[in-house]
Order: sequence, then C-alpha cells, then structure tokens
Amino acid sequence: MKQRINLLIALSVVALIVLSLVQCYLVKTTYDYKVAQFHTEIKNEIANISNNYSDIDSVLVSRKEALYKQLSENYIQGKKSKIDIKTGILYNEYQDALTQKIQRKFERELPNLKIDFAIVLNKFILFQNTKKADTIFSEKPFIKNKLYGNLASLNHAFLVRNYVGTTNGTYNNEDYQLLTEDSMYVSVIDWETIILRRMTFILILSLLSILTLITLFVIALKALIKQKKVSDVKTDFINNITHELKTPLATLGISTKILEKKDVRDNDESFNAIVNTISRQNNRLQNLIDQVMANSLTENQIELQKEQIETEDFLRSIIDDFKLTYPKINIITDFQTDKTNLVLDKFHLTTALLNVLENAVKYGSNTIILKTKLVQNQFSISIEDDGIGISKNKQPLLFEKFYRVEQGNLHNTKGLGLGLYYVDQIIKAHQGSIAVMSDLGKGTQFTILLKV
Ligand code: ADP
Repeated sequence: MKQRINLLIALSVVALIVLSLVQCYLVKTTYDYKVAQFHTEIKNEIANISNNYSDIDSVLVSRKEALYKQLSENYIQGKKSKIDIKTGILYNEYQDALTQKIQRKFERELPNLKIDFAIVLNKFILFQNTKKADTIFSEKPFIKNKLYGNLASLNHAFLVRNYVGTTNGTYNNEDYQLLTEDSMYVSVIDWETIILRRMTFILILSLLSILTLITLFVIALKALIKQKKVSDVKTDFINNITHELKTPLATLGISTKILEKKDVRDNDESFNAIVNTISRQNNRLQNLIDQVMANSLTENQIELQKEQIETEDFLRSIIDDFKLTYPKINIITDFQTDKTNLVLDKFHLTTALLNVLENAVKYGSNTIILKTKLVQNQFSISIEDDGIGISKNKQPLLFEKFYRVEQGNLHNTKGLGLGLYYVDQIIKAHQGSIAVMSDLGKGTQFTILLKV
C-alpha cells in the first residue's frame, strides 16, 4: 500500500512537472508569436508613414540628391576616390535635419510608441551607359553606415524596410544612374512591456491553472494520507481488540469446560474459584465494551456532572487507590498548592488521571512524581514518570483516537489506543489542556492545565 502511494505521488509529481513544462513551452511560443506579430504591425505602420523619404521633406531630399549627383560626377571625372564618396554620403549636411523630421513624423503618427530608428546605407552603385556598373560601395547593414536616425546599435532593432533609390543625371552628354539601397531598423522602447501587457490574460490563466492543479494535487495527497492513516489505525484497533477479547474468552471457555466436571461442581472451594474467575472475565469483557462505548463520545458529547471539590484532597484519594492497586510503584507527591477549589467532574477526571498513572506503570515506570502548582492563573497537574519515554515525532499523535506507539511486538503491552484520547477529551470538556514532554528512554511528563 505504502509503495503504491509513493508510486502514485512520484507519478503525479512527474505529470505535474511535465504539465508545467508544456505550459511554459506554450507561453514561450505565444510570446514568440506575439513578438513576430508586433514586428509585422510596426513594419506595416512604418511602411504607411514613410513610403518615400521625399514624403517627409521633398526639398531636403532633392538637395540631398543634388549632393549625390555632384559626388558621382566628381567620381566620374576621377576627382574623388570611392572612399571619398562614401564619406561624402555618410556625413552629409542634411543628416540631422532629416533625422529630426522622420523622428517627428513617427511621434505624430504613432503617439503611443516610442521609436528609435536608424537608416543605414548598404549599396551605392553607379551605372554609366557605356561602362558596366561600378559598385562604389556595398556592405551588410552596419550601424557605422548610419545615414539618419538615433539608434546606437542594431542589436535589439529589427528590419522594417529596404529602400532602393535612384538618381538620374547626365554628365558630358552621357547619361548615368545612381542606385542607392538603404535599410531602416527600428527599436520600440519598452517593447517587452507592451508584449507582456498583451499577454496578461494568457499568463494569468496559465498561472492560475497550474496553481489550481498543484492545490488539487496537495488536497488529494493529504486526503490519501489521511485515509491511509485512518485505515492503519482501524486495522491496529481491530488487532488490539481481538487480542484483548481473546484472553477472557479463552478463560471463560476453559472455565465452562471445568464446570462440566462433576467433581469440581461438588467441591465448593473449586466451584467458587471458577465462578469467581468467570465473574472476573465477565467484568473484564464488560469493561472493554464500556471503554469502547465511552470513547465514541467527543468532548462536546460528554455530559459532565460538575461539582465544587478541593482538588488536592481529590488527588490524594486517587493516589491512595492507585497505591493499593500498585503497591510496588513509588509515587511521590509535590503539592505547591493548597486547598484549591475547582469545579470538576469527579468521576471522569478520576478515570482520566488513573489512565495517565496506569500508562506510566504500563510503559515501564517505577517512580511517579505528581506535582501541582499555579501557572498563570491556571491549576497545573504534572505527572512525571521514569518509563520508556516517547520519541518526539510520535508525541503529536498521542491524543488521537486508537493511536498506539508501535512497540515492535504488538502484544508486549495491552491497550486499545483510547486511554489518552479519553483523557484529552475529558480535559477539553473542562476547558483545560494537556501537553506531553518526553525523552525516549528517560521518561514522560504529562501536564494538565485546568481553569481556576
Ligand atoms: P494504550 O491503550 O495503547 O495505552 P493510550 O491512548 O493510553 O493507549 O496511549 C497511547 C500510546 O501512548 C501508547 O500506546 C503508548 O505507546 C504511549 N504512552 C502513553 N503513555 C505513556 C507513558 N507514560 N510512557 C510511554 N509511552 C506512553
């Protein structure tokens, strides 16, 4: 059973981990999809805004083209090298003005987004009618080749569009064409926040579903463990009660067999001895049944017959009776209180205290110390023994119904695991409390606190 539960727990944990991983994967896929969707949106918006740079400022653009023409013609004449032309284009005087115009247009058209951009020059090719194309410059997109924009790096930016521009001119009666290719990169500030905001619903939903699953798992596990404990306790109880019933029944069986013999019946002494045995065993059976019946009541169902009693006297009378039954046990009293009047149920409390005292003897004690004192306006009765003690991890379970500390061999000490449960219920019914302190092998101390 225990192995099956462990296997079940292990499988459920694995299933939970797999489920969580699948959830994470789905969330990550959704995130990637949302990022791609966001990029497409931005690309479309920006494409609509800046179809052509001359839309932004035609005068500036035509001046810039004039500069390009002049540079090309200088190159055709052989006055300037390819490097000079690249530098002339990259550091032209219209850069700042165009950067600002484009920036402002973005701000106007997309007021909800903060966009940084860079337009980088990739190609610069000169076509002359008579000669083949002359590539003056051709590089991969590179931030150092920035024509316009305020981006410092292309690392976190994405490509929005490539723009191919042509400028036609004539030099020395010969036509030439200038082809430029540039790319626009943009980076939207706080784009992660925008995407996360769009994913809030899905994130909350997946988090909630995982949390619900974990909670359900824990609840199911707790119920399973509790059920297992209850079933163990029941099995123990059945074993114990069967064992307890066997002895008196066996004795009764033997006694009846003996009584069947005529010579025993004729002998008064033997007859009386057997009848006494039958009566004792009958009482024992009755006591067992009473004990089970009495313990089916909880603290709220117990009806107390309370009366005012002088507690120290009451305790002394219990100890006197106890000494008669267990003359070999050394019982020491240390009463630090005197003539304390409490309203108690004598009958139930006597049984409860005797349960604790008898347990001390049952579990190996020879000397018992009974102390009384006042603790924070409460009457404290402590019963300390030098018995086998109880390990720390078992102590919280002691007052549970049917609970017995496993003794290795179940039949070493008799019991139903009801004694301390009954004590706890009685003390609670008096609005008091009981606590245990024990060291395995050294002894146990029960402390009962009652309202004064
Ligand atoms: P039981 O019928 O087994 O005695 P109780 O409810 O009286 O049932 O006690 C529960 C368990 O607590 C016992 O099985 C025993 O292991 C442990 N126990 C109770 N009192 C003592 C004690 N004084 N010393 C050691 N163990 C004790």
